[in-house]
Amino acid sequence: MSSKIVLAQQLSFCFGVKKSLDLIEKIIQSKKYKEIYMLGEIIHNTQVINDLKAKGIKIIKDIHKIPPLPQDSLLVIQSHGVGPEVYEKLNQRNITYIDSTCPLVKRIHKAIQTLEQANYFPVILGSRNHTEVIGIKGYVQHTPIIIKSTEEVEKIDWNKIDKVGIVMQSTFFYDKADDIIKAIKKKIKEVKVIDTICNPTKLRQKEIVKEASQFKSVAVVGSHNSSNTNKLYDLAKKKNKNTYFIASEKEVEQYDFSKNTPIFLASGASAPTYLIQNIKNKILQQSNNFLKFSKDYALVIEKRIKEVFLEKKKKIKDKDMKFIFDSMQEFCLRPGKRIRPLLVLWGYFAFRGEKSKIHSAIDVAASVEMMHAFLLIHDDIIDEAKLRRGEKSFHSVMNEAFSERTYNKNVGRDLAIVGGDLLYFLALELASQIQVSLKKKNKFLEYFSQCYTYTAEGQLYDTFASQLKQVEPGKNYSKNINLLKTSYYTIYYPILMGYSLTGKTSVNIQTIEKIAVPLGLAFQMRDDIISVFGKEGDTGKSNDSDIVEGKMTVLIEKTLETLSGDKKKRFEKMFFKQQKTKKDIKDIKEIIKKTGTLDVVKKEITKLLNQSKKRIESLNIQLVYKNIFYDLIDLLIL
Ligand code: SF4
Repeated sequence: MSSKIVLAQQLSFCFGVKKSLDLIEKIIQSKKYKEIYMLGEIIHNTQVINDLKAKGIKIIKDIHKIPPLPQDSLLVIQSHGVGPEVYEKLNQRNITYIDSTCPLVKRIHKAIQTLEQANYFPVILGSRNHTEVIGIKGYVQHTPIIIKSTEEVEKIDWNKIDKVGIVMQSTFFYDKADDIIKAIKKKIKEVKVIDTICNPTKLRQKEIVKEASQFKSVAVVGSHNSSNTNKLYDLAKKKNKNTYFIASEKEVEQYDFSKNTPIFLASGASAPTYLIQNIKNKILQQSNNFLKFSKDYALVIEKRIKEVFLEKKKKIKDKDMKFIFDSMQEFCLRPGKRIRPLLVLWGYFAFRGEKSKIHSAIDVAASVEMMHAFLLIHDDIIDEAKLRRGEKSFHSVMNEAFSERTYNKNVGRDLAIVGGDLLYFLALELASQIQVSLKKKNKFLEYFSQCYTYTAEGQLYDTFASQLKQVEPGKNYSKNINLLKTSYYTIYYPILMGYSLTGKTSVNIQTIEKIAVPLGLAFQMRDDIISVFGKEGDTGKSNDSDIVEGKMTVLIEKTLETLSGDKKKRFEKMFFKQQKTKKDIKDIKEIIKKTGTLDVVKKEITKLLNQSKKRIESLNIQLVYKNIFYDLIDLLIL
């Protein structure tokens, strides 16, 4: 995890909001009602409300103007609560309703009634127009005094009042409340206070007051109409002028957090986890040195690839051939992170390659990206994948273009195999023409060949490791795949290629290996987890592909190591089935968790990342390149 952003301890939904949302979700799932209405917004968060609307929930904005509702419909009372007159109206009109008022708001209703019954004049500390305060007002006979500042205390005529009873809006400022009470006590002899600011609010406010000044900037996540979020923002702003209110991912773009890290990220009580996570990622991206490095060089690499194709296409007359070359170019340049070619450049700069001779490193970087495209085309054929980077896979493009013209059912596949080969030769041609000394070129070509030999070996293991019929003892597929296909291919060899172009020998290549390999392994393990359990912090989307395909990933191999006897037999029976049922997949996931394998692998990821970070720390390179590498780690593990 990045230390650029520190998350508040008190984050996302408070228990009251969670309770309301769980209730409404249960109602939706029950499918008991034809229509579901919310009386006011159940919570003050735009994204959550939009999600609920998308599920068919309708909102009645004015709680005092409830239109006729169809039969078999249900009305849900919001978490902020309503006055007794609203319940009366609902009962008179025989409207079926369910109450999701937070218990802590109900406590305020009771508190103000108790105070009035004991002859205290009711006073509410809060915002006059807030739904919660409007609701509280309804529980007393007198029209209560509503105050939100010490200045307002001075403007009120207290002469006819002997004793006052004070309650607060659940999300009122806890420190401001003390000042207002002191000011009232100067006017009135008998003051009774029932502290009704809810505990989740107090904890959040206290935390932000304590932390805001410890960080370079503060981001407060929540909707603009959320009272408690606004208060958190006000409190933080007083302590730290670099405090930003962020309601959506889009709003992150208005600010530049990159110069203001570390950042303290807090949220209102109605901000969903996925929103916080997305905003956090967006901020991290903004302040990520690797992405800035990428901004400087990715376009240069892409421009070089375009030039290579342009040069080739000049000599091509045939329409079909031109189409194939155009498709290859399009495939190569589809949006991607360009990690491998950027690491070539990182290796070149970090180990002090001459800036004036960067064109050779750019050519190698472009060549590495073209090699990547070639391997993806072949991978997609093996996997029979229909899509790649959100677009049609290369064999699908070829199939669509040429299948009508031939009896060959495999024309798309055949053309894609050759198209992939062509890319390989183009990449090799570009790499072999670099203008460097023979010594440097030989070293580079040695690493270039090693890289793709190991990658192919890794692919062989990968092919063996899928759709197996039974355990193959002693094989250790995941270890080989992760090392060869990820660590070497994605991290280690791209850096080595860049390093080889500098002609320097100051760094032992084993040192580079010790930095690159743990990162690659951690990245692959994290990918394996996502392929089974979905990404942490997202909407729960899960992708079961590795289980469906029966792939021997680190999760499966470690689970098998842990199990024994009948339990192991049962797991094997499910996992090695060709057609797994939904229950099989669910049970396999459960067993991976229950055996503790998931936690073990997560711990292993952290350990590997720390190893990589520690080793880069002791490397004799400029700080700027260390920071780029640290941020690459963040980016890969985000
Ligand atoms: S902020 Fe407090 S009163 Fe409001 S819903 Fe959450 S727990 Fe309940």
